[in-house]
Amino acid sequence: MYPKVAYFCMEYGMDTAFKMYAGGLGILAGDYLKGARDLSLPMVGIGIKWKQGYTDQLVGKDGKPYDAYHNYQYDCLEDTGVCVTVKIRQRDVRCKVWKVEAFGNVPLYLLDTDLPENEDAWITGQLYGWFGEERIAQEMVLGIGGVRVLRALGIDVDVYHFNEGHAVLAALELIREKMDSGLNFENAVETTKQEVVFTTHTPVLQGNESHYLDRLAYMGAYNGLSHEQMIHIGGAPFNMTVAALRLSKKANAVAQLHAETANCMWQHVDYNKPIIGITNAIHVPTWVDPEILSAVDREGDLWQVHMQNKRSLLDFIKRRNGVELDPDVLLIGFSRRAAPYKRSNFIFSDENIIAPLLEGRKLQIVFSGKAHPLDDTGKSIVENLVGMSRRYPNAVVFLENYDMEIGRMLTRGSDIWLNNPRRPLEASGTSGMKAAMNGVLNFSVLDGWWPEACRHGVNGWQIGGGFESCDVCEQDCHDLKSLYQVLLEEILPTYYERRDRWVDMMKNSIHSTRKQFAMERMLSEYYELLYKA
Ligand SMILES: *Cc1c(COP(=O)(O)O)cnc(C)c1O
Repeated sequence: MYPKVAYFCMEYGMDTAFKMYAGGLGILAGDYLKGARDLSLPMVGIGIKWKQGYTDQLVGKDGKPYDAYHNYQYDCLEDTGVCVTVKIRQRDVRCKVWKVEAFGNVPLYLLDTDLPENEDAWITGQLYGWFGEERIAQEMVLGIGGVRVLRALGIDVDVYHFNEGHAVLAALELIREKMDSGLNFENAVETTKQEVVFTTHTPVLQGNESHYLDRLAYMGAYNGLSHEQMIHIGGAPFNMTVAALRLSKKANAVAQLHAETANCMWQHVDYNKPIIGITNAIHVPTWVDPEILSAVDREGDLWQVHMQNKRSLLDFIKRRNGVELDPDVLLIGFSRRAAPYKRSNFIFSDENIIAPLLEGRKLQIVFSGKAHPLDDTGKSIVENLVGMSRRYPNAVVFLENYDMEIGRMLTRGSDIWLNNPRRPLEASGTSGMKAAMNGVLNFSVLDGWWPEACRHGVNGWQIGGGFESCDVCEQDCHDLKSLYQVLLEEILPTYYERRDRWVDMMKNSIHSTRKQFAMERMLSEYYELLYKA
Protein backbone atom coordinates (compact mmCIF):
# COMPACT_ATOMS: atom_id res chain seq x y z
CA MET A 1 0.00 0.00 0.00
CA TYR A 2 1.31 3.39 -0.92
CA PRO A 3 0.92 6.10 1.72
CA LYS A 4 -1.18 9.11 0.74
CA VAL A 5 1.15 12.07 0.25
CA ALA A 6 0.33 15.78 0.37
CA TYR A 7 3.11 17.63 -1.47
CA PHE A 8 3.55 21.30 -0.59
CA CYS A 9 5.40 23.71 -2.85
CA MET A 10 5.34 27.44 -3.57
CA GLU A 11 5.63 26.93 -7.32
CA TYR A 12 4.76 24.41 -10.01
CA GLY A 13 5.97 24.27 -13.59
CA MET A 14 3.38 22.88 -15.93
CA ASP A 15 3.07 23.31 -19.65
CA THR A 16 0.28 25.77 -20.05
CA ALA A 17 0.33 29.47 -20.72
CA PHE A 18 0.49 30.55 -17.11
CA LYS A 19 3.76 30.47 -15.26
CA MET A 20 3.36 29.43 -11.69
CA TYR A 21 7.09 28.84 -11.40
CA ALA A 22 10.25 30.86 -11.07
CA GLY A 23 12.86 28.20 -11.72
CA GLY A 24 14.21 24.76 -10.92
CA LEU A 25 12.18 24.22 -7.73
CA GLY A 26 8.90 24.68 -9.57
CA ILE A 27 9.99 22.69 -12.60
CA LEU A 28 10.90 19.83 -10.30
CA ALA A 29 7.58 20.02 -8.47
CA GLY A 30 5.63 20.00 -11.73
CA ASP A 31 7.64 17.08 -13.06
CA TYR A 32 7.13 15.24 -9.77
CA LEU A 33 3.34 15.52 -9.87
CA LYS A 34 3.31 14.52 -13.54
CA GLY A 35 5.40 11.46 -12.68
CA ALA A 36 3.07 10.55 -9.82
CA ARG A 37 0.11 10.98 -12.16
CA ASP A 38 1.68 8.67 -14.77
CA LEU A 39 2.18 6.00 -12.10
CA SER A 40 -1.26 6.56 -10.51
CA LEU A 41 0.28 7.20 -7.09
CA PRO A 42 -1.96 8.51 -4.32
CA MET A 43 -0.72 12.07 -4.06
CA VAL A 44 -2.14 15.58 -3.94
CA GLY A 45 -0.28 18.82 -4.50
CA ILE A 46 -0.80 22.02 -2.53
CA GLY A 47 0.26 25.36 -3.96
CA ILE A 48 -0.76 28.93 -4.60
CA LYS A 49 -2.66 30.42 -7.49
CA TRP A 50 -0.43 33.34 -8.40
CA LYS A 51 -2.31 36.23 -9.92
CA GLN A 52 0.76 37.35 -11.85
CA GLY A 53 3.24 34.54 -11.30
CA TYR A 54 6.90 35.34 -11.59
CA THR A 55 8.38 38.24 -13.51
CA ASP A 56 8.43 38.48 -17.29
CA GLN A 57 11.95 39.73 -17.57
CA LEU A 58 12.65 41.56 -20.80
CA VAL A 59 15.67 43.40 -22.11
CA GLY A 60 15.32 47.12 -22.83
CA LYS A 61 16.93 49.05 -25.67
CA ASP A 62 19.59 50.11 -23.20
CA GLY A 63 20.58 46.47 -22.80
CA LYS A 64 19.29 46.28 -19.22
CA PRO A 65 16.71 43.80 -17.97
CA TYR A 66 13.41 45.11 -16.67
CA ASP A 67 10.48 43.35 -15.07
CA ALA A 68 6.93 43.20 -16.32
CA TYR A 69 3.93 41.53 -14.77
CA HIS A 70 0.53 40.76 -16.13
CA ASN A 71 -2.53 39.03 -14.74
CA TYR A 72 -2.78 35.45 -15.92
CA GLN A 73 -5.77 33.95 -17.64
CA TYR A 74 -6.23 30.55 -16.07
CA ASP A 75 -8.15 28.14 -18.26
CA CYS A 76 -7.51 24.82 -16.64
CA LEU A 77 -8.76 25.60 -13.14
CA GLU A 78 -11.85 24.15 -11.58
CA ASP A 79 -13.56 25.96 -8.72
CA THR A 80 -13.83 23.50 -5.81
CA GLY A 81 -16.39 25.74 -4.08
CA VAL A 82 -14.23 25.48 -0.95
CA CYS A 83 -12.81 28.42 0.98
CA VAL A 84 -10.56 28.33 4.01
CA THR A 85 -9.58 31.15 6.34
CA VAL A 86 -6.17 32.05 7.75
CA LYS A 87 -5.72 34.80 10.31
CA ILE A 88 -2.91 37.07 9.14
CA ARG A 89 -2.06 40.33 10.95
CA GLN A 90 -5.22 39.86 13.04
CA ARG A 91 -7.37 39.89 9.93
CA ASP A 92 -9.24 36.92 8.53
CA VAL A 93 -7.91 36.22 5.05
CA ARG A 94 -10.19 34.09 2.93
CA CYS A 95 -8.50 31.68 0.54
CA LYS A 96 -10.46 30.27 -2.34
CA VAL A 97 -9.42 26.80 -3.44
CA TRP A 98 -8.94 25.89 -7.08
CA LYS A 99 -8.15 22.53 -8.58
CA VAL A 100 -5.81 22.13 -11.55
CA GLU A 101 -7.11 19.67 -14.11
CA ALA A 102 -3.77 19.11 -15.81
CA PHE A 103 -2.50 16.68 -13.20
CA GLY A 104 -5.38 14.21 -13.61
CA ASN A 105 -5.59 11.70 -10.80
CA VAL A 106 -3.01 13.69 -8.81
CA PRO A 107 -5.03 16.82 -8.06
CA LEU A 108 -3.18 20.06 -7.42
CA TYR A 109 -5.06 22.45 -5.15
CA LEU A 110 -4.20 26.13 -5.31
CA LEU A 111 -5.02 28.76 -2.70
CA ASP A 112 -6.06 32.19 -3.87
CA THR A 113 -6.54 35.33 -1.77
CA ASP A 114 -7.58 37.51 -4.70
CA LEU A 115 -11.16 37.99 -3.51
CA PRO A 116 -13.17 41.20 -3.18
CA GLU A 117 -13.79 40.63 0.54
CA ASN A 118 -10.04 40.50 1.30
CA GLU A 119 -8.17 43.64 2.17
CA ASP A 120 -5.09 41.44 1.64
CA ALA A 121 -6.03 40.24 -1.81
CA TRP A 122 -2.47 40.72 -3.06
CA ILE A 123 -0.86 38.10 -0.84
CA THR A 124 -1.04 35.67 -3.76
CA GLY A 125 -0.13 38.37 -6.27
CA GLN A 126 3.47 37.70 -7.25
CA LEU A 127 5.61 34.63 -6.74
CA TYR A 128 8.71 35.63 -4.70
CA GLY A 129 7.68 39.22 -5.39
CA TRP A 130 8.41 40.53 -1.93
CA PHE A 131 10.31 39.80 1.23
CA GLY A 132 9.50 40.33 4.91
CA GLU A 133 5.85 40.49 5.87
CA GLU A 134 4.46 39.63 2.47
CA ARG A 135 6.63 36.56 2.13
CA ILE A 136 5.52 35.37 5.56
CA ALA A 137 1.90 35.97 4.60
CA GLN A 138 2.39 33.84 1.48
CA GLU A 139 3.97 31.11 3.56
CA MET A 140 1.10 31.20 6.04
CA VAL A 141 -1.38 30.79 3.18
CA LEU A 142 0.57 27.87 1.72
CA GLY A 143 1.32 26.11 5.01
CA ILE A 144 -1.49 26.84 7.44
CA GLY A 145 -4.04 27.37 4.68
CA GLY A 146 -2.83 24.25 2.87
CA VAL A 147 -3.52 21.95 5.83
CA ARG A 148 -6.97 23.53 6.21
CA VAL A 149 -7.67 22.82 2.54
CA LEU A 150 -6.94 19.15 3.08
CA ARG A 151 -9.32 19.12 6.07
CA ALA A 152 -12.04 21.02 4.22
CA LEU A 153 -11.86 18.61 1.29
CA GLY A 154 -11.82 15.61 3.60
CA ILE A 155 -8.53 14.27 2.23
CA ASP A 156 -6.79 11.87 4.60
CA VAL A 157 -3.04 12.26 4.50
CA ASP A 158 -0.32 9.89 5.71
CA VAL A 159 2.71 11.99 4.76
CA TYR A 160 3.09 15.76 4.51
CA HIS A 161 6.00 16.51 2.21
CA PHE A 162 7.44 20.02 2.38
CA ASN A 163 9.33 20.70 -0.81
CA GLU A 164 11.66 23.43 0.50
CA GLY A 165 11.25 25.28 3.80
CA HIS A 166 8.57 27.68 2.53
CA ALA A 167 5.86 25.26 3.63
CA VAL A 168 7.06 24.59 7.17
CA LEU A 169 4.30 26.65 8.80
CA ALA A 170 2.05 23.74 7.83
CA ALA A 171 3.74 21.80 10.63
CA LEU A 172 2.72 24.52 13.09
CA GLU A 173 -0.86 23.95 12.01
CA LEU A 174 -0.46 20.18 12.49
CA ILE A 175 0.93 20.85 15.97
CA ARG A 176 -1.90 23.24 16.81
CA GLU A 177 -4.52 20.70 15.75
CA LYS A 178 -3.01 18.13 18.07
CA MET A 179 -2.74 20.56 20.97
CA ASP A 180 -6.37 21.55 20.45
CA SER A 181 -7.31 17.93 20.83
CA GLY A 182 -5.50 17.74 24.16
CA LEU A 183 -1.85 16.79 23.50
CA ASN A 184 0.86 18.83 25.18
CA PHE A 185 3.45 20.62 23.05
CA GLU A 186 6.15 17.91 23.26
CA ASN A 187 3.76 15.13 22.28
CA ALA A 188 2.20 17.22 19.55
CA VAL A 189 5.66 17.88 18.07
CA GLU A 190 6.60 14.20 18.28
CA THR A 191 3.42 13.02 16.55
CA THR A 192 3.68 15.72 13.92
CA LYS A 193 7.26 14.68 13.15
CA GLN A 194 6.07 11.18 12.38
CA GLU A 195 4.01 12.44 9.46
CA VAL A 196 6.30 15.11 7.97
CA VAL A 197 9.18 14.77 5.51
CA PHE A 198 11.26 17.59 4.13
CA THR A 199 13.38 18.26 1.04
CA THR A 200 16.05 20.93 1.30
CA HIS A 201 17.11 22.59 -1.92
CA THR A 202 19.77 25.17 -1.60
CA PRO A 203 23.34 24.91 -0.32
CA VAL A 204 23.58 28.71 -0.44
CA LEU A 205 23.08 29.88 3.14
CA GLN A 206 21.20 33.08 2.26
CA GLY A 207 18.79 30.99 0.19
CA ASN A 208 17.57 29.42 3.42
CA GLU A 209 15.02 31.91 4.64
CA SER A 210 14.80 33.12 8.19
CA HIS A 211 12.38 35.55 9.79
CA TYR A 212 12.52 37.75 12.87
CA LEU A 213 10.37 36.32 15.63
CA ASP A 214 8.67 39.61 16.46
CA ARG A 215 7.60 39.84 12.84
CA LEU A 216 6.31 36.26 12.85
CA ALA A 217 4.42 37.06 16.06
CA TYR A 218 2.90 40.20 14.58
CA MET A 219 1.86 38.29 11.45
CA GLY A 220 0.15 35.61 13.53
CA ALA A 221 2.49 32.91 12.27
CA TYR A 222 3.01 31.54 15.80
CA ASN A 223 -0.37 29.94 15.21
CA GLY A 224 -1.04 29.59 18.95
CA LEU A 225 2.48 28.57 20.01
CA SER A 226 4.53 30.51 22.55
CA HIS A 227 7.68 32.50 21.90
CA GLU A 228 9.82 29.81 23.61
CA GLN A 229 8.19 27.05 21.60
CA MET A 230 8.88 28.93 18.37
CA ILE A 231 12.56 29.36 19.32
CA HIS A 232 12.71 25.70 20.23
CA ILE A 233 11.55 24.86 16.70
CA GLY A 234 13.28 27.36 14.44
CA GLY A 235 15.76 29.34 16.55
CA ALA A 236 16.01 33.11 16.72
CA PRO A 237 15.72 34.41 14.09
CA PHE A 238 13.40 31.63 13.00
CA ASN A 239 15.06 29.65 10.23
CA MET A 240 12.62 27.85 7.97
CA THR A 241 15.10 25.10 7.03
CA VAL A 242 16.10 24.49 10.64
CA ALA A 243 12.44 24.31 11.63
CA ALA A 244 11.70 21.86 8.84
CA LEU A 245 14.66 19.65 9.82
CA ARG A 246 13.47 19.57 13.41
CA LEU A 247 9.84 18.91 12.55
CA SER A 248 10.33 16.09 10.04
CA LYS A 249 10.97 12.40 10.51
CA LYS A 250 13.18 12.29 7.43
CA ALA A 251 14.88 14.89 5.29
CA ASN A 252 16.69 14.74 2.00
CA ALA A 253 18.94 16.75 -0.27
CA VAL A 254 18.57 16.71 -4.04
CA ALA A 255 21.83 15.04 -5.14
CA GLN A 256 24.46 12.90 -3.44
CA LEU A 257 27.04 15.68 -3.29
CA HIS A 258 24.36 18.06 -2.06
CA ALA A 259 23.60 15.64 0.80
CA GLU A 260 27.24 15.86 1.93
CA THR A 261 27.17 19.62 1.69
CA ALA A 262 23.83 19.89 3.48
CA ASN A 263 24.93 17.64 6.35
CA CYS A 264 27.97 19.85 6.91
CA MET A 265 25.96 22.99 6.57
CA TRP A 266 23.40 22.02 9.22
CA GLN A 267 25.58 19.99 11.57
CA HIS A 268 25.30 22.65 14.26
CA VAL A 269 21.54 22.12 14.39
CA ASP A 270 20.19 19.54 16.80
CA TYR A 271 17.97 17.22 14.82
CA ASN A 272 18.65 13.55 14.97
CA LYS A 273 18.89 12.17 11.48
CA PRO A 274 21.25 12.44 8.57
CA ILE A 275 19.99 14.28 5.49
CA ILE A 276 19.83 11.59 2.85
CA GLY A 277 20.59 12.16 -0.83
CA ILE A 278 17.86 11.55 -3.38
CA THR A 279 18.98 12.92 -6.69
CA ASN A 280 16.47 14.90 -8.72
CA ALA A 281 15.12 13.67 -12.01
CA ILE A 282 13.01 14.89 -14.90
CA HIS A 283 9.68 13.98 -16.43
CA VAL A 284 11.00 12.50 -19.67
CA PRO A 285 7.88 13.02 -21.84
CA THR A 286 7.94 16.73 -20.99
CA TRP A 287 11.56 17.34 -21.86
CA VAL A 288 12.98 14.71 -24.15
CA ASP A 289 12.41 14.50 -27.88
CA PRO A 290 10.73 11.12 -28.55
CA GLU A 291 12.40 10.98 -31.94
CA ILE A 292 15.87 11.04 -30.52
CA LEU A 293 14.99 8.26 -28.07
CA SER A 294 13.51 6.18 -30.84
CA ALA A 295 16.57 6.84 -33.03
CA VAL A 296 18.76 5.48 -30.22
CA ASP A 297 16.52 2.46 -29.77
CA ARG A 298 16.48 1.49 -33.41
CA GLU A 299 20.11 2.52 -33.92
CA GLY A 300 18.98 5.12 -36.44
CA ASP A 301 20.74 8.29 -37.53
CA LEU A 302 21.14 10.23 -34.32
CA TRP A 303 22.96 13.09 -35.95
CA GLN A 304 20.16 13.76 -38.36
CA VAL A 305 17.56 13.91 -35.57
CA HIS A 306 19.85 16.17 -33.58
CA MET A 307 20.32 18.49 -36.55
CA GLN A 308 16.53 18.80 -36.85
CA ASN A 309 16.40 19.88 -33.23
CA LYS A 310 19.28 22.25 -33.73
CA ARG A 311 17.58 23.81 -36.74
CA SER A 312 14.34 24.27 -34.79
CA LEU A 313 16.34 26.05 -32.11
CA LEU A 314 18.04 28.27 -34.68
CA ASP A 315 14.64 29.11 -36.22
CA PHE A 316 13.34 29.91 -32.77
CA ILE A 317 16.32 32.21 -32.13
CA LYS A 318 15.77 33.90 -35.46
CA ARG A 319 12.11 34.53 -34.66
CA ARG A 320 12.87 35.82 -31.19
CA ASN A 321 16.06 37.82 -31.74
CA GLY A 322 16.43 38.17 -35.48
CA VAL A 323 19.85 36.53 -35.34
CA GLU A 324 20.78 33.82 -37.81
CA LEU A 325 23.19 31.32 -36.35
CA ASP A 326 25.02 28.73 -38.41
CA PRO A 327 23.88 25.09 -38.07
CA ASP A 328 27.39 23.87 -38.86
CA VAL A 329 29.09 25.76 -36.06
CA LEU A 330 29.33 24.29 -32.56
CA LEU A 331 26.55 25.70 -30.39
CA ILE A 332 26.87 25.99 -26.62
CA GLY A 333 23.69 26.46 -24.61
CA PHE A 334 23.73 28.04 -21.17
CA SER A 335 20.76 28.97 -19.07
CA ARG A 336 20.77 29.68 -15.35
CA ARG A 337 19.31 32.10 -12.91
CA ALA A 338 21.62 35.10 -12.95
CA ALA A 339 23.40 34.73 -9.61
CA PRO A 340 27.13 35.34 -9.05
CA TYR A 341 28.01 31.77 -8.03
CA LYS A 342 26.63 30.46 -11.33
CA ARG A 343 29.31 32.49 -13.14
CA SER A 344 27.21 33.02 -16.28
CA ASN A 345 29.85 35.07 -18.09
CA PHE A 346 32.75 32.84 -17.04
CA ILE A 347 33.53 31.68 -20.57
CA PHE A 348 34.24 35.29 -21.61
CA SER A 349 36.93 35.72 -18.94
CA ASP A 350 39.89 35.59 -21.34
CA GLU A 351 39.11 37.56 -24.43
CA ASN A 352 42.30 36.41 -26.16
CA ILE A 353 40.97 32.90 -26.14
CA ILE A 354 37.28 33.40 -26.70
CA ALA A 355 37.17 36.24 -29.24
CA PRO A 356 38.98 34.33 -32.03
CA LEU A 357 36.65 31.37 -31.58
CA LEU A 358 33.53 33.53 -31.78
CA GLU A 359 34.78 35.74 -34.59
CA GLY A 360 36.33 32.83 -36.49
CA ARG A 361 33.00 30.97 -36.64
CA LYS A 362 34.19 28.09 -34.51
CA LEU A 363 31.83 28.69 -31.63
CA GLN A 364 28.37 30.12 -30.95
CA ILE A 365 26.75 30.54 -27.56
CA VAL A 366 23.12 31.04 -26.66
CA PHE A 367 22.26 32.28 -23.17
CA SER A 368 19.09 32.69 -21.22
CA GLY A 369 18.15 33.22 -17.57
CA LYS A 370 16.46 35.72 -15.29
CA ALA A 371 17.71 37.65 -12.31
CA HIS A 372 15.46 37.88 -9.27
CA PRO A 373 13.48 41.13 -9.77
CA LEU A 374 14.95 42.65 -6.60
CA ASP A 375 18.54 41.52 -7.26
CA ASP A 376 20.64 44.27 -8.83
CA THR A 377 23.76 42.13 -8.97
CA GLY A 378 21.88 39.47 -10.92
CA LYS A 379 20.59 42.14 -13.26
CA SER A 380 24.08 43.37 -13.98
CA ILE A 381 24.99 39.79 -14.95
CA VAL A 382 22.16 39.76 -17.49
CA GLU A 383 23.25 43.17 -18.74
CA ASN A 384 26.77 41.86 -19.20
CA LEU A 385 25.52 38.86 -21.23
CA VAL A 386 23.40 41.14 -23.39
CA GLY A 387 26.51 43.28 -23.89
CA MET A 388 28.40 40.21 -25.12
CA SER A 389 25.62 39.45 -27.60
CA ARG A 390 26.05 42.98 -28.97
CA ARG A 391 29.80 42.67 -29.16
CA TYR A 392 29.56 39.34 -31.02
CA PRO A 393 26.24 39.75 -32.84
CA ASN A 394 26.66 36.70 -35.08
CA ALA A 395 27.93 34.32 -32.44
CA VAL A 396 26.36 35.18 -29.08
CA VAL A 397 22.64 35.38 -28.33
CA PHE A 398 20.72 36.23 -25.19
CA LEU A 399 17.11 35.01 -25.13
CA GLU A 400 15.04 37.15 -22.77
CA ASN A 401 12.39 35.86 -20.39
CA TYR A 402 13.66 32.32 -19.73
CA ASP A 403 10.79 29.88 -19.37
CA MET A 404 9.90 26.25 -20.00
CA GLU A 405 9.62 26.78 -23.73
CA ILE A 406 13.11 28.27 -23.97
CA GLY A 407 14.36 25.56 -21.62
CA ARG A 408 12.95 22.87 -23.86
CA MET A 409 14.33 24.42 -27.06
CA LEU A 410 17.81 24.92 -25.62
CA THR A 411 18.18 21.48 -24.05
CA ARG A 412 17.14 19.83 -27.31
CA GLY A 413 18.86 21.93 -29.91
CA SER A 414 22.26 22.92 -28.47
CA ASP A 415 25.32 20.76 -29.12
CA ILE A 416 26.83 21.36 -25.69
CA TRP A 417 25.19 22.19 -22.38
CA LEU A 418 27.53 24.31 -20.31
CA ASN A 419 27.31 24.65 -16.54
CA ASN A 420 30.06 26.26 -14.52
CA PRO A 421 28.89 27.14 -11.00
CA ARG A 422 31.30 27.52 -8.12
CA ARG A 423 31.32 24.07 -6.53
CA PRO A 424 29.48 22.93 -4.37
CA LEU A 425 26.77 25.56 -4.62
CA GLU A 426 24.61 23.95 -7.30
CA ALA A 427 22.21 21.62 -5.52
CA SER A 428 21.23 19.45 -8.47
CA GLY A 429 20.62 21.11 -11.84
CA THR A 430 17.96 19.29 -13.81
CA SER A 431 18.53 21.16 -17.07
CA GLY A 432 21.69 19.09 -17.58
CA MET A 433 19.58 15.92 -17.36
CA LYS A 434 17.23 17.25 -20.04
CA ALA A 435 20.22 17.96 -22.25
CA ALA A 436 21.90 14.61 -21.60
CA MET A 437 18.81 12.63 -22.60
CA ASN A 438 18.46 14.70 -25.76
CA GLY A 439 22.00 13.83 -26.78
CA VAL A 440 23.23 17.34 -25.93
CA LEU A 441 26.60 16.75 -24.30
CA ASN A 442 27.16 18.14 -20.81
CA PHE A 443 30.23 20.24 -20.24
CA SER A 444 30.06 20.95 -16.55
CA VAL A 445 31.76 21.45 -13.23
CA LEU A 446 31.44 18.33 -11.07
CA ASP A 447 28.61 19.80 -9.07
CA GLY A 448 25.01 18.85 -8.39
CA TRP A 449 23.94 15.71 -10.25
CA TRP A 450 26.88 15.62 -12.71
CA PRO A 451 29.41 13.68 -10.57
CA GLU A 452 26.89 10.83 -10.54
CA ALA A 453 26.75 10.57 -14.31
CA CYS A 454 29.92 12.02 -15.77
CA ARG A 455 32.39 9.84 -17.60
CA HIS A 456 34.76 12.38 -19.02
CA GLY A 457 35.20 12.07 -22.77
CA VAL A 458 32.65 9.24 -22.86
CA ASN A 459 29.23 10.79 -22.21
CA GLY A 460 30.22 14.42 -21.74
CA TRP A 461 33.01 16.43 -20.12
CA GLN A 462 33.81 17.74 -16.66
CA ILE A 463 35.48 20.98 -15.66
CA GLY A 464 37.89 21.38 -12.77
CA GLY A 465 38.28 17.83 -11.49
CA GLY A 466 36.20 18.51 -8.38
CA PHE A 467 38.66 21.09 -7.08
CA GLU A 468 37.37 23.36 -4.30
CA SER A 469 38.93 26.34 -2.63
CA CYS A 470 37.64 28.91 -0.16
CA ASP A 471 39.67 31.42 -2.12
CA VAL A 472 37.29 32.51 -4.84
CA CYS A 473 40.09 33.74 -7.13
CA GLU A 474 42.00 30.52 -6.82
CA GLN A 475 38.86 28.52 -7.53
CA ASP A 476 37.94 30.62 -10.56
CA CYS A 477 41.47 30.50 -11.94
CA HIS A 478 41.64 26.75 -11.65
CA ASP A 479 38.21 26.17 -13.20
CA LEU A 480 38.78 28.62 -16.02
CA LYS A 481 42.02 26.97 -17.06
CA SER A 482 40.30 23.62 -17.10
CA LEU A 483 37.29 24.96 -19.02
CA TYR A 484 39.44 26.39 -21.81
CA GLN A 485 41.67 23.34 -21.93
CA VAL A 486 38.78 20.91 -22.36
CA LEU A 487 37.04 23.21 -24.83
CA LEU A 488 40.13 23.71 -27.02
CA GLU A 489 41.78 20.32 -26.76
CA GLU A 490 38.82 17.99 -26.56
CA ILE A 491 35.46 19.48 -27.47
CA LEU A 492 36.32 21.51 -30.58
CA PRO A 493 38.51 18.81 -32.18
CA THR A 494 35.92 16.13 -31.51
CA TYR A 495 33.14 18.25 -32.95
CA TYR A 496 34.94 19.28 -36.11
CA GLU A 497 37.21 16.31 -36.77
CA ARG A 498 35.68 13.25 -35.11
CA ARG A 499 31.97 13.48 -35.80
CA ASP A 500 31.58 9.70 -35.42
CA ARG A 501 33.09 9.93 -31.96
CA TRP A 502 30.75 12.81 -31.12
CA VAL A 503 27.72 10.77 -32.12
CA ASP A 504 28.98 7.87 -29.98
CA MET A 505 29.17 10.25 -27.05
CA MET A 506 25.61 11.39 -27.74
CA LYS A 507 24.50 7.77 -27.59
CA ASN A 508 26.41 7.22 -24.37
CA SER A 509 24.91 10.36 -22.94
CA ILE A 510 21.37 9.16 -23.60
CA HIS A 511 21.94 5.56 -22.53
CA SER A 512 23.69 6.49 -19.29
CA THR A 513 21.01 8.93 -18.10
CA ARG A 514 17.58 8.05 -19.40
CA LYS A 515 16.70 5.58 -16.62
CA GLN A 516 18.83 6.90 -13.77
CA PHE A 517 17.53 10.47 -14.02
CA ALA A 518 13.96 9.74 -15.03
CA MET A 519 11.16 10.66 -12.63
CA GLU A 520 10.19 7.01 -12.05
CA ARG A 521 13.51 6.38 -10.28
CA MET A 522 13.16 9.49 -8.18
CA LEU A 523 9.59 8.67 -7.14
CA SER A 524 10.51 5.14 -6.15
CA GLU A 525 13.34 6.48 -3.96
CA TYR A 526 11.07 9.02 -2.29
CA TYR A 527 8.58 6.27 -1.48
CA GLU A 528 11.29 3.84 -0.35
CA LEU A 529 13.62 6.15 1.56
CA LEU A 530 11.44 9.02 2.70
CA TYR A 531 7.76 8.14 2.89
CA LYS A 532 7.84 4.56 4.16
CA ALA A 533 7.03 4.46 7.88
C1 LIG B 1 14.90 22.78 -16.26
C2 LIG B 1 14.61 24.18 -15.95
C3 LIG B 1 15.16 24.77 -14.80
C4 LIG B 1 16.06 24.03 -13.86
O1 LIG B 1 17.34 23.97 -14.39
P1 LIG B 1 18.68 24.06 -13.57
O2 LIG B 1 19.53 23.03 -14.18
O3 LIG B 1 18.38 23.80 -12.13
O4 LIG B 1 19.18 25.43 -13.81
C5 LIG B 1 14.86 26.09 -14.53
N1 LIG B 1 14.07 26.81 -15.34
C6 LIG B 1 13.54 26.29 -16.47
C7 LIG B 1 12.66 27.15 -17.32
C8 LIG B 1 13.79 24.97 -16.80
O5 LIG B 1 13.25 24.46 -17.92
